[in-house]
Amino acid sequence: MREKFGLNEFRNGQKEIIESAIAGKDVIGILPTGGGKSLCFQYMAVHTGRIVLVISPLIALMKDQVDGIRHILPAGYLSSTQTVEESRAVLDELCANESGNLLFVSPEKLSTHLFRQFIKKLDIGLIVVDEAHCVSQWGHDFRPDYANIHSIRQVLPVAPIMALTASATPIVVNDMIKKLGMRDPDRHIHGFYRGNLYYECVVCTNDAEKWKMIQGCVRLVNTGRIIIYCGTRKDAQEICSRLPCSEFYHAGLSPEERTRVQESFSSNHVRILVATNAFGMGINIPDIRLVIHYRMPSSIDALYQEMGRAGRDGRPAQCIMLYSSRDKGLHSHFIHRGPEKDHSLEKRMAWFKLNAIIEYAEETKRCRHSIILQYYRDTHQIQRCNHCDICSPTGSLQSNIAPLKVQSTSTANPLVQNLRKWRTETSRRLQKPPYMIITDKTIHDIVQKKPSSIESLHSVHGLGPHKIRLFGQDILTIISAT
Ligand SMILES: [Zn+2]
Repeated sequence: MREKFGLNEFRNGQKEIIESAIAGKDVIGILPTGGGKSLCFQYMAVHTGRIVLVISPLIALMKDQVDGIRHILPAGYLSSTQTVEESRAVLDELCANESGNLLFVSPEKLSTHLFRQFIKKLDIGLIVVDEAHCVSQWGHDFRPDYANIHSIRQVLPVAPIMALTASATPIVVNDMIKKLGMRDPDRHIHGFYRGNLYYECVVCTNDAEKWKMIQGCVRLVNTGRIIIYCGTRKDAQEICSRLPCSEFYHAGLSPEERTRVQESFSSNHVRILVATNAFGMGINIPDIRLVIHYRMPSSIDALYQEMGRAGRDGRPAQCIMLYSSRDKGLHSHFIHRGPEKDHSLEKRMAWFKLNAIIEYAEETKRCRHSIILQYYRDTHQIQRCNHCDICSPTGSLQSNIAPLKVQSTSTANPLVQNLRKWRTETSRRLQKPPYMIITDKTIHDIVQKKPSSIESLHSVHGLGPHKIRLFGQDILTIISAT
């Protein structure tokens, strides 16, 4: 280890994965990104002195891997973009080597007749499927080329298969085993425990209660950044319109606008982002201290992934899901109404996922971290974490918000009431959602500034020339009449 790789010890999970492969067993290894997946097969090449065949989805990825490892052990790659001569040169070099080495290959190349004829002659000790979740159509980046990988077993019946990935839900793991034709594989699943995150779920009777919770949470968590995940674009816009210093993000925005919002959040110009699940892929912001789910997502997978954006810097962060029975109803409705047949695999899968997250939401006794570790069948299991609302209720945001008594003075103000009443009527008349007429932020600013002329309306937040032309006179009339 030390001599070849300059490392003193294995990281969490690596040793177990390697031991299974050495014992000649098929093995599934799930390690978090940066958890050192590639060391598992590199080590095997050195240990066995044989060729390790690595199937990898992206040519760029293979090239990087080969370049990164060549100073330690011989490695080459084959892809369908190479000429026959180039491929032959790679293979000749491998055959000339006495020691173990790595041969990376793309799934397309793997299915060619010529390649299959050739690898029969090679001394291949292990087949590695990297990014193995791509084999499953339930994963997020399904690759049709991966569907044929299993037939490699006809050519290489003895070599064990090592399937590696950073992300695999229980459904995807089962699919991987089936699609790759794995034989009773050992499973080593690591990294789903996030010890710096406090998980919490609050049952709310309606959206008004959820809104109060959001206000309270935002007030309590006054450092770092905050993401509020909403189920719909409309919810995202509406919550944003009521929250000062926030922006919204969803797939309905133009690409330019999305980039602008993302940059303004990443560069900390805006502290709170109200978003749909369109936000987050590839985002790595260190100091997100709070993630709120305004509605329950459709699966633990979505919830876990979105909560996981909190506390990337390793410092404590809170994740709170606001749950109402209406959320459950909405998701059930979508599944019922979905185009798939009632007993289709898709539908059963959707019900399985929904039931799992409902159980999580309605749980009153089991530690939330332990529920998630069990769901992913993480090798690391716990009974109590002491940082979720079940194990340690005093740390919960809810228990800290209650004494604050969320204030509702502004809504009792007659001017606020009259403006809202007018907004409701206008939104019905124009058939537009209320926040498109004026937002709550605008209403509060009007109450503060009490403008008395068309000119002074220009200083109110959210009132541009267009809105003033449309609604200015109405607003002034309401102010003077109240
Ligand atoms: Zn717990």
